Amino acid sequence: MTEADSSDASLSVGGIRTALHCPRRYEFAHVDGLEGSDDEGTVGERVDLLRTAICDTLRSGETDCDRLESVAHDRLSSLWSDHDERFHSVAQRRHERRVLEATIDAYIHHVGTDHAAGIERLSAATPRDELTGPGLALSSTIDLTETGEAERTGETEARTVTIDASVDYVTSDGASLVGVRFVPTLAPLGQLRYRSDWEGDVATRFRDHFGGETDVFEPDPVGALFETAVVLDGLRDFRDRRGLADSTCRYVQIPLADRSTLSVNWIQNTVETSLDVVDLTDVYVDHHTFGMTHDHRNETVDGRLASLAATLVSESFDPAERWAQIEANACPNCGYTVCCQEYLAREVRFDG
Ligand code: SF4
Repeated sequence: MTEADSSDASLSVGGIRTALHCPRRYEFAHVDGLEGSDDEGTVGERVDLLRTAICDTLRSGETDCDRLESVAHDRLSSLWSDHDERFHSVAQRRHERRVLEATIDAYIHHVGTDHAAGIERLSAATPRDELTGPGLALSSTIDLTETGEAERTGETEARTVTIDASVDYVTSDGASLVGVRFVPTLAPLGQLRYRSDWEGDVATRFRDHFGGETDVFEPDPVGALFETAVVLDGLRDFRDRRGLADSTCRYVQIPLADRSTLSVNWIQNTVETSLDVVDLTDVYVDHHTFGMTHDHRNETVDGRLASLAATLVSESFDPAERWAQIEANACPNCGYTVCCQEYLAREVRFDG
């Protein structure tokens, strides 16, 4: 991956994820700018409240657990008072706020205090505003001529493509620079959530997704691996620009809307929860090689990412190649069925 140049095209990790589900959906959403009819608004808005409250707290410079809780609760209270969401009752609104407070407490106790200390260490050399988001921009630039993708597609003048991603903050655990992104849940990770090695079913299902000989269709886990590749490359650039040359880089996701761990005591009106934290660098980086070079990337993931990026840049959006999997897995939850020629053609075929 190289520096961007004048013939640089750009994509986003969100777009890459969409294209993994269906390239036509990518065209509707990211080329034509059409809004789909699917709506995950409420959960997303609550996660954004927590995201903002936590990032503002980390930016405060506090590192003591009790002080972090106090600052975070105050910030959440302020954001919540401006939060416009329709509830059935005052009791339900009060309960939802307790859930958010419990999520903040779980975060601070599980990793927040350590992460605040890591930010404090980094802030000696880097302003806190550059370490805390939400939405710190990172990017990775792929040289399509170097990977051979420019020749393969033959339909694009772009020689490089820059892929944008973001993390909510950057911290340090002493040995590594850690990019952290808050997500609603870890469910899209699939088996990645429980694995710590690339070899095994992670590698097998990744290859099978692209293999064509099976009906394996794993756009979300594959998208998470692509996102990890982009974030790590962006973090390496961040590290190098700030002279943190000896740090390795890691990428962690933290779920803020996972209700499976929620415990409610309706008599005492208390809510408790816990948080899982997933380090995606466990599966993306080959541990043995990683010990020898910090620059190692999983070439299988990088190669497929370059190939998909080149296909999108060349404006090739026909879903025919993977139609059976897309029709079975992506179409049923798609917000573009009313304007999609492939979907409508299928409907007409059935009616006929
Ligand atoms: S309806 Fe199906 S084919 Fe059409 S954009 Fe959505 S997922 Fe793709």
